Amino acid sequence: MKPLLALACLALAALLLWLQPPRELSALLAVLAWLGICLHAWRQWRTGRSDALRGNGLPVAYASQGGQARTIAERSAAQLRGAGLPAQALPLEALDLRQLPQPARLLLVASTYGDGEAPDHAARFERQLLGQHLDLRPLEYAVLGLGDLQYPRFCAFARRLDRRLRELGATPLFDRLEADRADPAVLRRWQQQLGQLADNAPFSDWQAVDYQPWTLSRRQCLNPGSRGAPVFHLQLRPDAAADWQAGDIAEIGPCQPPERVAVLLARLGLAGEALQDDGHMLAWHLARRQLPDDIQGLIGLSAAQLLEQLPRLPHREYSIASLPGDGHLELLVREMRHPDDRPGLGSGWLCRHAAPGETIDLRVRANPGFRLPADCGPLILIGNGTGLASLRAHLRERARLGRHGHWLLYGERNAVHDRVFAAELEAWQHDGHLARLDLAFSRDQAEPVYVQHLLREAADELRAWLARGASLLVCGSLQGMGHEVDALLHGLLGSAEVERLREAGRYRRDLY
Ligand SMILES: Cc1cc2nc3c(=O)[nH]c(=O)nc-3n(C[C@H](O)[C@H](O)[C@H](O)COP(=O)(O)OP(=O)(O)OC[C@H]3O[C@@H](n4cnc5c(N)ncnc54)[C@H](O)[C@@H]3O)c2cc1C
Repeated sequence: MKPLLALACLALAALLLWLQPPRELSALLAVLAWLGICLHAWRQWRTGRSDALRGNGLPVAYASQGGQARTIAERSAAQLRGAGLPAQALPLEALDLRQLPQPARLLLVASTYGDGEAPDHAARFERQLLGQHLDLRPLEYAVLGLGDLQYPRFCAFARRLDRRLRELGATPLFDRLEADRADPAVLRRWQQQLGQLADNAPFSDWQAVDYQPWTLSRRQCLNPGSRGAPVFHLQLRPDAAADWQAGDIAEIGPCQPPERVAVLLARLGLAGEALQDDGHMLAWHLARRQLPDDIQGLIGLSAAQLLEQLPRLPHREYSIASLPGDGHLELLVREMRHPDDRPGLGSGWLCRHAAPGETIDLRVRANPGFRLPADCGPLILIGNGTGLASLRAHLRERARLGRHGHWLLYGERNAVHDRVFAAELEAWQHDGHLARLDLAFSRDQAEPVYVQHLLREAADELRAWLARGASLLVCGSLQGMGHEVDALLHGLLGSAEVERLREAGRYRRDLY
């Protein structure tokens, strides 16, 4: 339709030049053409908006006071559309939850303003949401809250939206994110979640990560012979002092496999050693860029033009498995593979391509939602697979604080090959740091056994621990384990109690 409109405008301009009609008629025709363009743009906007509401798209609804939430929602929708998902940004008041298709998904970007209030344009929506008694069970949603930590009721509106949607039965796709003054690290996490919704589309970070150089000092496979994907224990050393707490995240800048870069350079006839303005070689830069399979459009470009064309690789996140006092940063990384057997971008780089001794681009990110206060009660730690990384850091932190007597429920595939960190867990069980250890090896019997099954069997014990003030920490896969454990807790304890624990900071999750 757009080319037709452009052609029509050109034809009109040519006609006016040729006929040279009176000025009044020219002006009238120009105004009519302008009105036509406006009408077309408005209809397109309305169609997109109602498509999003009718279920032909994914609504990214925003509540924005100063425009920031709107910008982020529009950016999110554009990114999702680029990955093939028909997403549409729209103001919150344009959303009618009674009209959503079933099942439906909804993304919300919500600013809080003043004393914990909704932005003006969203206030009516909030009143309606609180007054309505809808059954939102078929709805899955995610919330990004924007606010300023200097105000006491930080992200209060986003929290109210989240709580009300849960009360009405909707299921969160991810735990709510809260960005203090548009914290770029939280926005990267949001982007990472958008990536998951779009089948791991290779998004570029909106704002480049300020990585520091770390050295990969050690890498060891922890599950040789496993029928699952290999899991590696990595140790990294910073070039400068670094600090973090249990629960924090390492953001990694992945690199392309060196042979992929070499092949591209050879096909383009460029020298990888050529130094660029910043002192890095061309090959160094290319390793950090998305490289297309079809290079037709790149032939003949200079190195600078080439780098301008190629988007940066997005970062990847890994839970930190150690404490600063351990002397190095440790990760537990599972090597992922694409359906065509190519290694995953981040895990392939860390587990396969990067050689020990090599520099890794890494940035430590605080993860306040998964940190614990020093004086919290005993921990009930629940996880599977590489989710043990963060749980281990928490157990180490509790040991350092002299707080013992925790309960770990952990799931993997087979006892023979997949006993990750077995010696350390046994030692903790022996000296009482772990008062209870439940291991679920899903493939060791005909019927799979997962951590949620062990938790269900221990329901009375769970209630007793919670009554003693225990906190729940859940880390690992969102699909399967995370959802199942959450559903079980709602069933065993009741939704009001789960919400109470969550709000008291006694139910924390880090799922991916
Ligand atoms: C908070 C957080 C903490 C995390 N902690 C850990 C951790 O401690 N350890 C850990 O191992 N991981 C962790 N992860 C996951 C990690 O960030 C990566 O997502 C993971 O390593 C896979 O990324 P990748 O770049 O290797 O694979 P990608 O190249 O992104 O591919 C990921 C997988 O998606 C599938 N896939 C990708 N694209 C497509 C496609 N187009 N079509 C079909 N399938 C596709 C493939 O099967 C592939 O294996 C964490 C994630 C988060 C958000």
